[in-house]
Amino acid sequence: MTVLVFVETGAGGVTEVSREALTFARGTGAPVHAVLIGAQPDGVLAELGAYGAEEVHHVTGSAFDAYGGATWAAGLEAALVASGADTVTAAGTPRGMEVLAHLAARRDVAMAANVVSADGDIVTRQVVGGSVLEEMRLPQRPAVFTVAGHAVEAQPAAAPTTPAVTVLEPELPPQDLVARVVSTEPAGPDRSGALTSARVVVGAGRGAGGPNGFDGVVELTEVLGGALGVSRVVTSLGWRPHHEQVGQTGSRIAPEVYIPCGISGAIQHWAGCASSKTIVAINTDDEAPMVTKATYAVIGDMHEIVPAITAEVRRRRRQG
Ligand SMILES: Cc1cc2nc3c(=O)[nH]c(=O)nc-3n(C[C@H](O)[C@H](O)[C@H](O)COP(=O)(O)OP(=O)(O)OC[C@H]3O[C@@H](n4cnc5c(N)ncnc54)[C@H](O)[C@@H]3O)c2cc1C
Repeated sequence: MTVLVFVETGAGGVTEVSREALTFARGTGAPVHAVLIGAQPDGVLAELGAYGAEEVHHVTGSAFDAYGGATWAAGLEAALVASGADTVTAAGTPRGMEVLAHLAARRDVAMAANVVSADGDIVTRQVVGGSVLEEMRLPQRPAVFTVAGHAVEAQPAAAPTTPAVTVLEPELPPQDLVARVVSTEPAGPDRSGALTSARVVVGAGRGAGGPNGFDGVVELTEVLGGALGVSRVVTSLGWRPHHEQVGQTGSRIAPEVYIPCGISGAIQHWAGCASSKTIVAINTDDEAPMVTKATYAVIGDMHEIVPAITAEVRRRRRQG
């Protein structure tokens, strides 16, 4: 019984969620092996030892310099064979999900995503944006699953190890090298931290009408000293940057007041805003889910209502 953990690293070493995955793996009671793919920053081995990895399989070679889902899964599979592990896990990041999904397909086994606990063959995992827990049986070997973010707190091992290192340089067939990252662009500044901690969030969805339809909500956000949050339609259409997205695949917010304007309230959006204390929905449709779930609703055109609210807030402030 060995658990193999695909570990992601950055300039700062092992990522927080990979440390969580190592902690989760240790919690199964089985020996933990870690897999590193490609070039690594200094100090990673010591960190993996601190988190109790008994062995580290380092997959290297020019094929692994750039990320590729199938390529890295092939590297992980080489480590699986070398380690003889019967369980493979990783943090539930986009990369962890992709690499493990490829691995599961290669081994013709099921994969469970976003697992929060494991008991023998049974894993419990988050579904529907974390609002529902589902039990799933993983009787096949290897058992393959990703660990949901913050399912456990990252905790160094009580007894640190000095892991033995195995270097693997697998030869890959051309079909494993088809999709590769050929260039990357720096992301814009990530201000999602401001969104998750904001006491007031003004939201905007497709009802904004287009990329130039946000002036009113931005102004209200500034007047209220809050943060702007948007729906996925808005980010998918490129109207606003992704770090502003609220929902299952965006930020989870828990403000005192959330003012969603022109947002229908789809379940995936609701998953990110359900913890708001008070919701004031602005929508032309009085049957939109966001309206029916809101604490208060104003039915009408956001382009008329939002500036009117901003003007009223300013008027009352002037009056002291
Ligand atoms: C796997 C998956 C993950 C997803 N993750 C997310 C996520 O993280 N976040 C997210 O938001 N969505 C997510 N979605 C998408 C989600 O299902 C919805 O498609 C999306 O939330 C809808 O965005 P919207 O409310 O802006 O648009 P719509 O559903 O089109 O709603 C627009 C609303 O604006 C109203 N409206 C129109 N004009 C006006 C106006 N002038 N004034 C006032 N109101 C007006 C309409 O009545 C309507 O209610 C996800 C979907 C999938 C499948």
